[in-house]
Amino acid sequence: MRITTGIRFFPFALILALVAYPQDGAGQLQDGNGQLVRTIEEFDRAAANLQPGDTVVLANGAWTDVELRFRGNGLPGQPIVLTAEEPGEVVITGQSNLRFSGEYIVVSGLVFKDGFTPTSEVISFRTSSDELANHSRVTDVVIDNFSNPERHDSDIWVAIYGRNNRFDRNSLLNKGNSGVTVAVRLNTEASRENDHVIEYNYFGPRQILGSNGGETLRIGTSHYSRDYSNSVVQYNYFDRTNGEHEIISNKSCGNVYRGNVFFESQGTLTMRHGHYTLVENNYFLGNRKPNTGGIRVINENQTVRNNYLYGLTGHRFRGALVIMNGVPNSPPNRYDQVVDSLMNNNIVVDSDYIQLCAGSDEERSATPIGSSMHGNIIMSTTNLDPFTVYDDISGISFEGNVLNDEADEPIGRGFSKAPYSVEENEHGLRVPARPLIDGIGFGEVRLPVTRDETGAGYYPKTDRVVEFRSGDTLSVGAGTDTILEALENSNPGDILLLENGGEYLLTKYAYIRHPITITTETGDKALVRSEKASFFIVENGGALEVENLWMDGASSPDQPGNNVISTSRYSMNRNYSLAVRDSRVTNLDVNHTFDFLKVYRSTFADSIEILDTEMTNITGSILSLDKETDDLGIYNVENVTIRGSAFTDIQGSVANIYRGGTDESTFGPIVVVEGNEFTNVGLGSRNRSGASLAFHGVQRLQVSDSTWNASAPLDLHLTNGEPITVIRDVVMRDTGQIRANSDAFQTENVIYERNAQ
Ligand code: CA
Repeated sequence: MRITTGIRFFPFALILALVAYPQDGAGQLQDGNGQLVRTIEEFDRAAANLQPGDTVVLANGAWTDVELRFRGNGLPGQPIVLTAEEPGEVVITGQSNLRFSGEYIVVSGLVFKDGFTPTSEVISFRTSSDELANHSRVTDVVIDNFSNPERHDSDIWVAIYGRNNRFDRNSLLNKGNSGVTVAVRLNTEASRENDHVIEYNYFGPRQILGSNGGETLRIGTSHYSRDYSNSVVQYNYFDRTNGEHEIISNKSCGNVYRGNVFFESQGTLTMRHGHYTLVENNYFLGNRKPNTGGIRVINENQTVRNNYLYGLTGHRFRGALVIMNGVPNSPPNRYDQVVDSLMNNNIVVDSDYIQLCAGSDEERSATPIGSSMHGNIIMSTTNLDPFTVYDDISGISFEGNVLNDEADEPIGRGFSKAPYSVEENEHGLRVPARPLIDGIGFGEVRLPVTRDETGAGYYPKTDRVVEFRSGDTLSVGAGTDTILEALENSNPGDILLLENGGEYLLTKYAYIRHPITITTETGDKALVRSEKASFFIVENGGALEVENLWMDGASSPDQPGNNVISTSRYSMNRNYSLAVRDSRVTNLDVNHTFDFLKVYRSTFADSIEILDTEMTNITGSILSLDKETDDLGIYNVENVTIRGSAFTDIQGSVANIYRGGTDESTFGPIVVVEGNEFTNVGLGSRNRSGASLAFHGVQRLQVSDSTWNASAPLDLHLTNGEPITVIRDVVMRDTGQIRANSDAFQTENVIYERNAQ
C-alpha cells in the first residue's frame, strides 16, 4: 500500500505502520484519530480544536524555532496526545519550547536538543498563569543540552504546575546554563496539594555551575514552603548531577523521595524547607568522588529511613547525613528548626562526614529537638572521626546505632561497636555483615532501579565530556601555522605531537573548539610563538592540555594586553579545562599586561593545572580568575593546582582567584599551591591586587612547601562557608607578611627571612 493522497485519517495505532511512506499535508481532526503535522502552521491548526482521544503527531525531522502551545480537555481513558511520528526522530531545536494546559494531556517521544527556550521554561505544564495542566503526563521525552548560551541566563527545563501530573521515563542531560532542571511550582492555589508523580527519569550529567541555581530538582520555593505539594519522586537515576550542592531542593511539605539512585553526584538531597518529608530506600553511590553527599535534614517531622550511602566524601553541609541547626522563629527563607525528625535504619559505608547541628552560628542557634538517630550502621575506615557535633545534641535521641571499632564516637550514648566488616554483596554493593543489616531490618541491599531502567529508552545515555588523549595522535611538522592546520583536522580528544626542538609560529589565532592535547615526546621542547594577541583561544566546548612545550612572547604584537591562552570573550555554557605540564613560558614582555591566561566573565573551568613548569619574565599575570565581580557567589574556576613550578620576574600575580558574596551553594573554588618557587613576583605597578597570590572566597586552599623570594605577599580574604585554609612549610624571604582579613586559617611552619640587601 502506498499512500499518495494529501488528506488522510488514520487511527493512532496505525501511525507506526505508516511512517515508512511519504507524507504531505495535514488532515483534519476527527475524534480518536491521529493527525500528522509537518509545520508549525499545521500544528497550530491541529491544536486549535482538540477533542478527547485526539492525537497530534509531529513529523520526523528537525523542528527549529517552534513554540508549541497545546490546550485541550481529554477524559480519563481518552487523553489528548502530542507525540512523535517515531520516538526520538522528532528533534526540536533552535529557540523553542512547549506549553500545554487542560485535562488529561499526554506528551511523549519528543527530543529537545541543542537549542534553548526563548522564555524561562522549556516544557511547561501551563499555557498562562491561570491555564494549568492537570491529570497530564510527559513521558519518553528527552531534553539534551537545551542550554541558553548565556551561562547565567536562568531557565527551568521542566516546570510542573497544576495537579495530579506525571513526569516519567524522561531523559534530561547536559544542562549548561543556570536554573533548575525540573521544578514543581506551587505559586498558585491550583498548583498546591498536587500529588504529582516523578518517576523512572534519567537525570544525566549536569556540569558544575559555579553558582547557586544548579539544582536538578526543586519542589516548591521558600515563599510557598509551608504549603503542601505531596509529590512523589521515586525510582529516578541521578547520574553525576553536579550543578551545585543541592541535587534536590525540597521546599514544600508532604513530599516522598523513594528508591532513587544518586550516582557520583556532587551535593545532597536537601530538605531545605517544608515539613513531613519521607526519604526512604534511596541509594547514594559516591564512589569516593569529591563533594559527593547524602541527606540533609532541616525542618519538622522529617523521616529519613532505610537509605544506603556509600563512598561519600562531602563535608559540612554535604556530609553523608546532616542535621542542621535552625533559626529561632525563622522567616520562610532561612532555616526552620529541626523538630520531631527521624534519621533511622540507614547504612553508611566508607563515607567521611556525619554532621549534627551543622551551620550552628549566632543566627542558626536553634538546636534539633524531639528527634532521633536510631539503628544506623556506620562503617568507615576512610575517616575515623566521622561525627562532627557543632552544638547541643540533647534534643536528638541515639539508640541502637553501630559504629566500627576503629571510629571515634563523641556522642557517648546509643552506639555499639563492631568490627569493620564491609564486603561486596551479590549485587555489587559494599555492605556490612549480614547480621548487622538484619539487626536493623534493612532487608536486601540492592539498587531499587538501574540506569538502564530509567529515561527514554530510545535515547543513549552517552557522555558528552571527551577526555584528553582519548583520540588519535597527529604529527605536526615544525613551521608556520602547521598547528592551525592540525587543529582544523583534529577531532575531540586528539593529540597534536610536535617535533622535539621544532619551531612553530602562529600567524592567526589557534581556536581550541574541542578537547586537544599539544605535546612533544620527552626531550627538547617544541618552541611556539604567535603574532596575534592570543596564542590559543579556548572556545565553548574546548579544553586544552599542553605538555613539554616552550611558549615564548618574542613574536607577539607590540601592544598591551596580550596573552598566551584566552577563553572565548563570550559566555561559555560548557565548562573547559586547562592543563600545562613540563613546559616553559618566557618573555611575555613585548608590552605591559601580557598575561599567561586571560578569562572572561561567564566562563568556567572545571580544572586549571600548572605542573612542573617554569615561567619567566612576564609583564602580566599568570592566572587571573577574578572576572565575576558582582558578589553573587559566582566564580570562574572550580579546581586550581599549581605544583612543582618556578615563577620568576612576574609583574602581576601568579594567581588571583575571586568568589564574592555570601552564597553557600557551591563547593569551590578549591586551590592547591604546592612545591613552587616565586621570585620577584607581583611587584609590578599594574598589579592591582598587590599580591603574589590573592585568594578571595576560596573554599578550600592549601599552600605548602613553597618559597617566596623578594616577592609581593600572599593575600587571603576568607568569606563565609567555613573555608578550609592551610598554609604550611613555606619560606617567605624578603617578602611581606601574609595579609588576611581574618585569622580563621591554619599556619604551620611559616618562616619569614630577611636577607641583607
Ligand atoms: Ca541552591
